[in-house]
Parts: sequence; structure tokens; C-alpha cells
Amino acid sequence: MPDPTRAGRRRAIARRLILLVAALAWLVGSAPAQLARAADPIFYTVRLVPDAQAADVQATIPTGKRASIELMMPVWSPGFYRVENYAARVQDLAARTPGGKALRVDQPRKNRWQIETGGAPTVVVSYRVACAQRSVTTNWVSADLAVLNGAPTFLTLVERIRRPHDVRLELPPTLTRAMTALDPAPDGAANHYRAEDFDTLVDSPIVAGDLDVHQFDAGGRGHYLVDAGDRARFDGARAAGDLQKIVAEARRLWGFLPYKKYVFLNVFRQGGGGLEHKDSTLLTASAARATTPAGYRSWLSFVAHEYFHAFNVKRLRPIELGPFDYENEPHTKSLWIAEGFTSYYATLLLERSGLDTPADFLAAMSAPIRQLQQAPGRLVQALDQSSWDVWSNSMSGVNTDPKTSVNYYVKGEVVGFLLDARVRRATGGSKSLDDVMRLAYKRYAGARGFTPDEFRTTAEDVARTDLREWFRRAVSSTEELDYDEALDWFGLRFVARDGQDASQNWKLEVRDEATETQKSHLRALLAPSQSEPPFANTSFISRSRKSLSSIRVMSTPPRACDVTSVLNETM
Ligand SMILES: [Zn+2]
Repeated sequence: MPDPTRAGRRRAIARRLILLVAALAWLVGSAPAQLARAADPIFYTVRLVPDAQAADVQATIPTGKRASIELMMPVWSPGFYRVENYAARVQDLAARTPGGKALRVDQPRKNRWQIETGGAPTVVVSYRVACAQRSVTTNWVSADLAVLNGAPTFLTLVERIRRPHDVRLELPPTLTRAMTALDPAPDGAANHYRAEDFDTLVDSPIVAGDLDVHQFDAGGRGHYLVDAGDRARFDGARAAGDLQKIVAEARRLWGFLPYKKYVFLNVFRQGGGGLEHKDSTLLTASAARATTPAGYRSWLSFVAHEYFHAFNVKRLRPIELGPFDYENEPHTKSLWIAEGFTSYYATLLLERSGLDTPADFLAAMSAPIRQLQQAPGRLVQALDQSSWDVWSNSMSGVNTDPKTSVNYYVKGEVVGFLLDARVRRATGGSKSLDDVMRLAYKRYAGARGFTPDEFRTTAEDVARTDLREWFRRAVSSTEELDYDEALDWFGLRFVARDGQDASQNWKLEVRDEATETQKSHLRALLAPSQSEPPFANTSFISRSRKSLSSIRVMSTPPRACDVTSVLNETM
């Protein structure tokens, strides 16, 4: 009821004032996001110097008129779980005003620089970066090839806001073209890019040189296979066609593609390994190996793994893996999902896209099972502990000691296969691990991330059963895995070879006595995904390939995603 007195009117005015102040407070509270959009960019010019195997960087940095600013360089690269001292490769760092007045620079930490601005609104920082390393997290510059990664190249302001980072690349005449997933800068000039924030810059490697670019469309999105290095005998057009099939199957599986464009930066050079990014991947492979039939399949599986990361880990991710603190390494117990399941789906993508035969699939699944079961470390370290210890016990999860630790790529892939069978059995074949991944993506992709319990309960929601004991045994204990359920569901067995005990050989084969129901379960696993998930019906979609009923594993092709033989860096 209105209060007609003078005091009442004053109270009403006071209430309106409070509301006004509250509204202003709300506006101020929401200001950081708007300020972030309006933040001035950092402008970098990067001049590649092949003779010196270096890049000369000049960064024009807004100061906000502060008396001093602090810059930092990351100590690790997301996806590669190893602390690296990138700052050690920064040389001759100097700062000046735009007018040329030298400014004082201190280095309070090995990866931080403090600059006295003298009140200048912008400062110009110049430095040289040594570029003579071939890994997927470092830089290389030579007369015919340049590979630049964000973390070891770009200093940035120590701050929490999102700020555009603008990069102008100056190429020597011998490096004719550059490719990256970065968006072009507003002026549209060649080799001029604009990242919306530092995360995007770090997440977007650049490759320059004499490049072959094979473009293909899938799902209405442009995809680019960029071949660099020694590729004389590599059939890039065929590879692009095969990657198109893999992308098409990934889109059927997930129901969407999560990026505007995707770039496969495929560098043939000494070394090996790949690193996933949101809209691209940087691959290092051997051309000689990739031109043999087995080596080419291995390359396809390797690329499928990196590509699947665009969904699993770059967007659907463990909660600890973002937002990134580039100066402190994050610990997570869920890399077996990020990496092991990605390897499992790489195997499935090749199969479901028709690039592999069912025999290939059984051989591909046998390899990690055998590797796991022959490694004593499986009885020493639990799968989630292996993930937690990654910063100290391996080279980003690769080259673990098989005696003392379990490899989360290897056991994670096997656990993915077994969990898939568990979900299928629990739901009478109406749901699968695909449904778990899609539901997890829907719940946790983006800013949030998932905890181990949230991933388990997502699987339970799909399987409609309690999986706590299953996860405890498979993920958090050193007990042996139970293969019986998967073998029974899919009508498989471990077969003896070369006079060995079958239980020691770990070679999967379809049982002679497999029932039609069991064969239908295996066909459902290997069939192309339906185009409109989520789908309840896993009926087989026929395609021109050898009937499953006549499958025998005839040979064991090299393990496509064998991290110990194919990769010496990371996947
Ligand atoms: Zn990986």
C-alpha cells in the first residue's frame, strides 16, 4: 500500500536510489567481460631469420599508463604435460617507448620480465627466440621450413582479462606460404592474424614454407591438409580424401562439428609426435614410413587420434584442464579419458569410416591389450594415478617405465573398450560409450569441465546402473581387468598363436561358435554412426566389406597409435 506521508515519500525515494545503486553495481560487476572485448590488442611482428635459426619478435604492448608492467612466457603447453623452460630461448630482450627511449627491464623470475614504462601508453619490447628444436611444442626456422608455437614464442601481459593478440608474420623469400588456424586480421593482409585472446594464440601453431594444401569440405566446414617437409612420395590428395571420411564419421558420431574450420598441419621431418589444438593439430611424422601401406594406416590412426581431441579434451575436458595457468602445471586424474578414450575412438573412426576392415579393428584392439597385459606396471600403479603422476613419471604420458607404471594411453584405450561393452550389455545394446561421450559433452564441454565422479555418473545415467565398483576396479585399483564381459558380448576370444598360451597372447578373434546375436553386437560396434544422435538403435548399416561371419585375423598390422613406436613426443 502507498505511504502518503512525507517520510514515506523519502523512503520511496531512498528505495529507488538503492535500486539505482544496485543496478549500477550490477553494470560495474558485468563490466570485465565488456572491458575485455574492448581491451587494446598486443601487436606482434615476427620476422623469421633462417640464417640464425631464429625469430625476431617485436611486441607493442599497451600499458594502461601504469608505471610498470609485467610480462610472462608460459612454462608448459596445454596438451603436452611437461614443464619446459621456453624463456631460456629468449635472447636480447629490450624495451623502449614508441619514440625510442630505452626503458628499464628486470627479470624477477626466469619466465617473467618487469618493465618501467615511464608513463608511456605503449611500450615496444623486442627479443629474439632461438628456433632450432623439432618437437610439437617448440620452434624451428630454416630456409625451407618454419614451425612456430605460441607458448615458446609470445610474451604476454600478466593479467586475467581477455585481450586480442595480433600477429604479423614476415617471411623470408624461401618460405612462400604460411598456414594456421588463426583468423585473419581485420585488414585481410597476407600473413597477418588476430587471435581473440592469448589462449587462442597459444592454441594455434603456424607452419610456413613450400606447402601443399589440400582442402576438403565436411559438414559445411572447410578442412585443410597442409603437407610440409619431405613429402615427395606422399599422396596428399589421397590422404585428404581419407581424412574427409574420418571427419564425416566423427560428425555422424557427435552430431556436429565444433569449429568453423580445421587445419591438419602435417610436417614430415625428423622426430615424431603430434599435439592437439582446438581448430588444428600439429603433426610430425616420417615420410618414408607414411608411404608404406602399414605406415600409412599408422599415420591415419595417428591423425584420427589428434583430430578426435578437437572434441575430447579441447572441448569436453577434465575440470583441471582449463582455464589454463601457463605458469603452473595442472594435475588431473582423468587423462585416461582424454587420451585413452581418444585412442579407442581413433580406432573406431578408422573402422566406421570404412578405412579399416573388421580384422584390422580386432588387430588394433589386441595390441594395447597385449601391451597392457605384458607390462608388470599394471599391477603396480592404478590408471588414475598414472594420470596424476604424468608430470614426473614420463614424457607427457609416453615412454613410461612398464615395470613401475601403467600407461594411460594403453590402459585407457582398453578400459574404453571394456566400458563400451559394459554400457551396451547393461542396456541390452540400446546405448553405448558413444552415448556417454555425447551426454558428457552436453553437460560439461566448454567452460565447465568434468570431475572423475561426474564422468562416472554420466556413464551410470546412460547405462542405468551403478558403476562405482566397475570404475574402482578398472580405474582406481591395480587389479587385473575383467575381459569376460566384453568377449562374451561381442562373441570374441583370445586365440593362441605360435604355440603360445592364448591367455598370454592376447590376440582377439571372433569365436567359431559366436551366435548371431553376438555377431550383431560386434557389427553394431563397428558400423558407421547414425547421422542424428542420440540414437537408440545400433543396427548394422550395411556397406561393401567382408562379412563379419567370415572374419579371421589374418595378419597383425603395426599398431596405428602405438605411442612407444610411432611417437616420441606426445599424442
Ligand atoms: Zn592425444
